[in-house]
Amino acid sequence: MAKTIAVIEGEDSAPEAIRPVVELLSNLLPDASWVYPEVGESAMSKFSTTFPPEARECIDSADTTLFGSTSGPSGAALRYLRWGKETFANVRPCKYMTGCSSPLQSPEGIDFVIVRENLEDLYVGMEGGLGELEFLEKVGRTARRNISQYGTGRYAVKVITEAGTQRIVRFACELARKRNSKRKVTCVTKHNMLSETDGYFLEIAKGIVGDYLDLEFESFIVDDCACRLVLEPQAFDVVVTPNLYGDILSDVAGGLLGSLGMAASGCYGQNYAYFEPAHGTAPDIAGTNTINPTATILSAVMMLEYLDYESIARQLYRATEHVYQQGISLTPDQGGNASTSDFVDAVGDCLERLPRIPS
Ligand code: ATP
Repeated sequence: MAKTIAVIEGEDSAPEAIRPVVELLSNLLPDASWVYPEVGESAMSKFSTTFPPEARECIDSADTTLFGSTSGPSGAALRYLRWGKETFANVRPCKYMTGCSSPLQSPEGIDFVIVRENLEDLYVGMEGGLGELEFLEKVGRTARRNISQYGTGRYAVKVITEAGTQRIVRFACELARKRNSKRKVTCVTKHNMLSETDGYFLEIAKGIVGDYLDLEFESFIVDDCACRLVLEPQAFDVVVTPNLYGDILSDVAGGLLGSLGMAASGCYGQNYAYFEPAHGTAPDIAGTNTINPTATILSAVMMLEYLDYESIARQLYRATEHVYQQGISLTPDQGGNASTSDFVDAVGDCLERLPRIPS
């Protein structure tokens, strides 16, 4: 059945990446419908809100959403896609493509996925003044001070729940089985300092992997993991981690491939998924048509897989890989001098030239 895909372009450089990619995808999926929920600044001027009910309905009735990236105006739509749709698993692959400008001497064989818990941790957005917490009369385990001794200051709440952790670890284990690669799950926390929250995450993870005895399991403290990702990235398969560490480690992963322009991402829930590059809006290069669209293309590959367009997904991945192998249409972040549109055109050319992958 033909699919409906909602597109939210986002701000700054993001539309420069997403527009040519949607054009490319439209050729690949001639039967698909592309809808554009009106959000952000244009919705504000028309509906006096950045996320009107019409936009929500448009997202709800679509099979999925392809999102550019937001610096704020499309933030309400993004919050709906995450917390409204409960897309709890943020999957961020890091796979080396021959020809990409990795700073490593031997990047061949890098192929791991970060599975970041997407709804909890410090991202619940519960912050405030320390005075609000004085009633707790709690003494910090390490600093041995109570709240009132700190004077004026702020706090942020870190939430790790049993159900949230169980479902993300289970998701990571299922993914390790499906990838059928190293069949390994690495849990990353800071349980030595945060035994109540990260210690809980790790404890739950250890319990869940008991149901997956066919998988190898290991755990690292996040700072150690950051170092290992640089020193021996080929050792990783599926990394499962709370929200904030996942966000930070995925930029490390982008760095392993030479730039954030390579960092794709998909956010999956029980009944919905949306896809967006892991990088931000790259405001410093907005208007130059030089944003690397690879992260958007690879996010689209994940979207095609989600929509069961498996062979088209593989074709698009292979064409992108081919452009890196040729090395002549790369964007400046990858050491080339091609524009965003040149890169997408080169992928389009490869799609036409390479033999079709049967479905
Ligand atoms: P966020 O906090 O939302 O991740 P940010 O402003 O911290 O956003 P980015 O927008 O990701 O970070 O940009 C960080 C740097 O990486 C900038 O110099 C930007 O130009 C560069 N960058 C990010 N994405 C790309 C891309 N796709 N192609 C080229 N450069 C990029």
